This record gives sequence, structure tokens and C-alpha cells, in this order.
Amino acid sequence: YAALDVFTCGSDLDPTAIVQAVSESLEAHRCDTQSIDRGDGSVPPSGVTSRPQGAMKRSVWFTNRQDNIALSLRHAGVLFAEQSAYQKVEVVESYGYGKILLLDNQVAFTERDEFVYHEMISHVPALRHPDPRRILIIGGGDGGACREFLKHESIEDITVVEIDPTVTEAAREHFPRMATSLDDSRVTLIHGDGRAFLESPSDAFDIVVVDSLDTAGETPFDDRFFHLIKAVISSDGLCVTQICAPTLSPDRFSSSITSQRSTFQSVVPYLAFLPTYSTGMLSFSLASVGTRQQARDVILNDLRYLNSDVLNAAFALPAFVQNLIE
Ligand code: SAM
Repeated sequence: YAALDVFTCGSDLDPTAIVQAVSESLEAHRCDTQSIDRGDGSVPPSGVTSRPQGAMKRSVWFTNRQDNIALSLRHAGVLFAEQSAYQKVEVVESYGYGKILLLDNQVAFTERDEFVYHEMISHVPALRHPDPRRILIIGGGDGGACREFLKHESIEDITVVEIDPTVTEAAREHFPRMATSLDDSRVTLIHGDGRAFLESPSDAFDIVVVDSLDTAGETPFDDRFFHLIKAVISSDGLCVTQICAPTLSPDRFSSSITSQRSTFQSVVPYLAFLPTYSTGMLSFSLASVGTRQQARDVILNDLRYLNSDVLNAAFALPAFVQNLIE
């Protein structure tokens, strides 16, 4: 661990060049910077248009490293930090993307663009199912996916199985527009391992959502995991899973699709785009026990990302992605 204090005078010297040089020379795995304006603080750091409410007068860069690419976001300080039994859970207040939930130093979502992810992981399967009534969400203890499913009148009950109560605690405190959905009368929130929940018998679900790229539990989301999902979904049921983007890890993307195809009759990927996921691309897989459903012509008017054009276009894959799954 190395800490370096750099005092600079005047606004034309850029201390980040020093940070870059030190980080490279030490071959740092992670490098966090924190700049404190020694002036009266009335003028926000260059390039910042406004200060988030409640944050100290600081300007810190958080860097999310994933495979061989990094995403840096400027923030004004940490609002919540706990080491749970499963992961490090933090909330920071960023200058450009609102509050951000970090899990083990990875961006889980930001206030500014979480709607993209939660609309696409919920409404795509809900609109492709003939009559969705019972939903199972594995992960998603932040309430984001649950909030979106509640917009469908046909849905009678949603079971959310979240392994880490600290995620729900952080969401209730800092992301109430998501977490309050967990209190709806149609919702049952269980704090436990989604894999263990699947091992215990339950009534069939119409849609199962795997709202987590990797498990924070003991056992991986492997073939057996998807076999357990297949055992609890109805004959026209659907399983939607967030999978690794082909722009981030092509091998992992194709192996996700291939392994699910050993369990389900039809598995198709679909894509969405938002800046705060490394490479800006989001990927999901939609798996069905029977043949793939056609979209119902139900349009939800108050969505911010999904519309009927996007619903169709999301399944249109670039040539390099098609080649990965043929
Ligand atoms: N919904 C958010 C989004 O916008 O991406 C974040 C989901 S977060 C990346 C993954 C969630 O799944 C976390 O809340 C994590 O605690 C939970 N999780 C991980 N493994 C799990 C498991 N085996 N069973 C239940 N929940 C799990």
C-alpha cells in the first residue's frame, strides 16, 4: 500500500499525470485518488458543473477494473461502506451518475442509468411470456427488477431471493425508488442463497430472473444451477440471465449461451447499452423450455429505455456476436 500527498498550486497543473506515473511504476492493482480543493471550495473542481448534495468538498476517482479494461467515475465521497459476509458493499455519490452501488469494487448500478438494466431484464421476458403471473428473482435485493415487474397487472407474486441483507440495507437507505418495491404486497423477499432456494421444492414460476453475473454464494451458477431452474419453471416458462458482454469477454459470452443450451430448448441473447458497464454493452440470455415466445402487443407507456422498436432490435445481433454463438 502506498499513499502519496501531492500539493499543487495554480489550476493549470494536472496532478492526475503524477498519479498515472506512480500507478504504472508501482504496477498498482487499484489506485484511488482524492483531491481536496484548498481554496474556499465555492468553485467546484474543473469540469464539474455542480456539487452533489451532502457530499464533502472532495473529488475522488473510483476505477472499476474488469478484465483488461477500466471505467473511472468521479465521486465526492463514500456514503455507505460495509464488509458483509459475502462482499464489500459501498455507496458513493458521483458527480455525473448520481449514487452508485459498488460490490467488491465493481459497479453494480448507478442512479442515472440503472433503468436500462432493470427494464431490459424484466420487461423483455414479461412481454415475451403469454401470461406471466409468478416471478422468481435470484439476486436483485436492491429491488430494481422487482419494481419493473410490478408494472405488469397480470403478475400476482414475485419472490426475490437475495443472499446479502446488506445490499437490501444499502438500497433501502440510498436507493428508495428501487427498494420500496420490496414492500409491495405481491412481493416475498427472502435473504438466502438462490441456489439453495432452487433445491427446495416450490410451485412453478412463469419467469425466473438471474439478476447476478456471478454468485456471491458457495456454488457457481453452473449447468446444475440451470437444471434446477428448469425444474421450477412452467411448461411455457422463461429464464432470463445477465451474462458477460461479448465486447468484454467473447469466450465467456459464448460459453454462457452454449452451457444453457444444454438445458433449455431455446436460448437467445439480447443486448442493451449503457455507459457504466465496462465496454458500455449489456448482455442477457432469454431461455425457454418450449419454443421461443412471440412478444405480446402490450406496451407499457412509462418506460424510459424499452419500446416496441427496442424490444425487437435488442435481439438483432452484430455479426461478430452471431459468430460467437453459431
Ligand atoms: N440489479 C443490479 C444491477 O443493476 O445490475 C445489481 C445486481 S448485483 C450485480 C447481484 C446481486 O445478486 C447482489 O445483490 C448479490 O448479493 C446477489 N447475489 C449474488 N449471488 C447470489 C446468490 N447465490 N443467491 C442470491 N443472491 C445472490
